[in-house]
Amino acid sequence: MDIFNAKIQTIPRINQKYGEILKKINVTTVGDFLFHFPFRYEDYSERIEIDSIIAGQSATIMGEISTSKLVRTWKKKIMITECYVADDTGSVRAIWFNQPYVSDSLTIGKGVRLSGKVLEDKNGFYFSNPAWELSSREPTNTGRLVPIYPETEGLTSKWIRWQMQNIFKLDLEIQDPIPEDILQELHLPSIKTALQYIHFPQNEHQYLLAQKRFAFQNMLTVQLASLKVKANWEKEACVKIPFEEKLISKFTTSLPFALTNAQRKASFEILKDLGKTRPMNRLLNGDVGSGKTIVAALASLQTAQAKFQTAFMAPTEVLAKQHYDTFCALFKNNELKIALLTNSYRELNNIQNTINKIQTTSNLQTGKQNTKILEDKNAILKRDELLSEIKEGRIDILIGTHALIQKDVRFKNLALVVIDEQHRFGVSQRAFLQQKIETINDGLPGKIPHLLTMTATPIPRTLTMAYFGNLDLSLLDEMPKNRKPIITKIILPSKRKEVYAFVRSQVAKGHQVFIIFPLVEESEKLAELKAATQEHERLSRDIFPELSLGLLHGKLKAKEKEAVMADYKNKKYDILVATSVVEVGIDVPNATVIIIEDADRFGLSQLHQFRGRVGRSQLQSYCFLLASKSTVKSRLRLATMEKTNNGFEIAEADLKLRGPGEFLGVRQSGLPDIAMQHLGNVKLIEISRQKALELLKNSPTLSRYPLLKKELAKFATNVHLE
Ligand code: ADP
Ligand code: MG
Repeated sequence: MDIFNAKIQTIPRINQKYGEILKKINVTTVGDFLFHFPFRYEDYSERIEIDSIIAGQSATIMGEISTSKLVRTWKKKIMITECYVADDTGSVRAIWFNQPYVSDSLTIGKGVRLSGKVLEDKNGFYFSNPAWELSSREPTNTGRLVPIYPETEGLTSKWIRWQMQNIFKLDLEIQDPIPEDILQELHLPSIKTALQYIHFPQNEHQYLLAQKRFAFQNMLTVQLASLKVKANWEKEACVKIPFEEKLISKFTTSLPFALTNAQRKASFEILKDLGKTRPMNRLLNGDVGSGKTIVAALASLQTAQAKFQTAFMAPTEVLAKQHYDTFCALFKNNELKIALLTNSYRELNNIQNTINKIQTTSNLQTGKQNTKILEDKNAILKRDELLSEIKEGRIDILIGTHALIQKDVRFKNLALVVIDEQHRFGVSQRAFLQQKIETINDGLPGKIPHLLTMTATPIPRTLTMAYFGNLDLSLLDEMPKNRKPIITKIILPSKRKEVYAFVRSQVAKGHQVFIIFPLVEESEKLAELKAATQEHERLSRDIFPELSLGLLHGKLKAKEKEAVMADYKNKKYDILVATSVVEVGIDVPNATVIIIEDADRFGLSQLHQFRGRVGRSQLQSYCFLLASKSTVKSRLRLATMEKTNNGFEIAEADLKLRGPGEFLGVRQSGLPDIAMQHLGNVKLIEISRQKALELLKNSPTLSRYPLLKKELAKFATNVHLE
């Protein structure tokens, strides 16, 4: 029988009840169960003699029960089992609280093995609630490297160990997805040996080796997946958009600032990509405020020059609107037609241009009337009308949310898709987006658009290699010259008053301030609203009665949010009290202070995003992190923010603290945490990539490696790559 793939309930002692508990941790087959790995080991492997134990050490002893009694403390009504265990060298006391059944098993004369920490009181050394088993049994919970498993309710490590032992006694046949020659070359154990090593290691070396093998297996699958995605993408045809050096340099010299070298380099890479016969699939990875928008604008300009359309997608309506305004301003002299399409917005920029033209051409006849019609048209621009403008190719650049790729949006010749802040789109949304883009109604049959994704979460190099191996990468690792590093300070609640005084002094200078309130869980949305509303009231009434305060929160409609943002930008408010909705890309250069309440509740990368709301001009900016928790750990974590303004460094630190799953905003179900721990291992990632390439070269569809192919299919349904 194929035990490995059998239902877990086929194991004799695993009944329906346990079957259901296991299902909660995604274990339905015996194989799944075997891949439920320990996350650490307790080293009880060394047995010591009783006369040489010392207080404070973890020890395993073996001996005979010499006395055993069960007592009840009257005061506290606690049952205590107290035994003495003796070996040839001496005897030691062991007590168990509220486990009366222990005394049933540990009767005088029984041989036992005990593992635990040695304590000491006035009566000498003793063990408190040690792990124990009869010495006639094979070491499971004592006397070995004891695996500690992630537990859920109703499932203890002890139970898991016992079942693992039962399963390994069966005649297990496990086929290895990794070809033998690769294992040999890399000196890695077979899958069966590795599973044995992981659950029953005889020494540290064994489980480390097993972890290495599974990390490799996982990374190999990831690399195969990303190479496949890449190959599929590159098989597609696209339009060539010629590099317009003159146009681009004319445009960039007209900007009020000089591009940074990083912006130049990234733009060059992208503009070159557009001219190739293979569709671009590039990730523009740059810190908050590094100036990604302008790079995307250049690509859109070149695309429009070649008479093709661009779709620019942002994760929120507010951000889409902001990009629309930015693009309209940037291209005011270029006669580009730019439109905005979201669920609540429909706008078209070229009215003014058109009006001017019509006025000049029609002054001869009926000028005024024409203008009027167009203004009316603007006022009642209907979705249908905008859609037909897009379809007829009268829009060069369409900006919006994912409403852009809805079924009824048809383009005339869409050649470039830009996705901003792509990390804000969920993982499944991203996979969906990529699929959608491949099948989008771009008006160019047989061709797909070039794709540029942008992220403001600097992604560490190893992670990019590991998880975005299918994308080409451009980095903006340099800030515009006029920026002063933001001064960041951790503030204890007792110093709040001083911060408020500082706020007043900044407002007196004409600058503006953000105050951010946390509570980030979806379930806390209502509480969040309440807290922010109350705080807005309190601050307006008690703290800053002389100032004007705006309030921005997630329950506002897009238009309302937009109105608040616009008022803030136009300095109607000195202070904006906001929930985490301001995190994404909002640009208010006059804001110089951001105060983040309960800063310990946010991840470092998210704090960095918030902080990026200030420091967007030549003004000196400040970030105050209010820390209510004062544990050393949270202090150290926040101190990273004080130390550096470099998003890549912060990302590295964040990655170490939270692990890649959290970091990327995905719990990568199906990936063992073990593999995750190896993500910093560049060599492992490189070798996995190389082996994946070799395997695909040998067998492009992996038909020669059916198990690997199966593994890949399983992976693809769990985790989606861009
Ligand atoms: P992000 O990378 O976070 O999307 P933006 O594109 O919003 O950053 O740019 C942030 C601000 O910096 C904008 O106000 C933009 O006009 C400005 N900016 C962009 N590039 C430069 C530059 N090279 N020099 C000075 N300011 C710049
Ligand atoms: Mg941006």
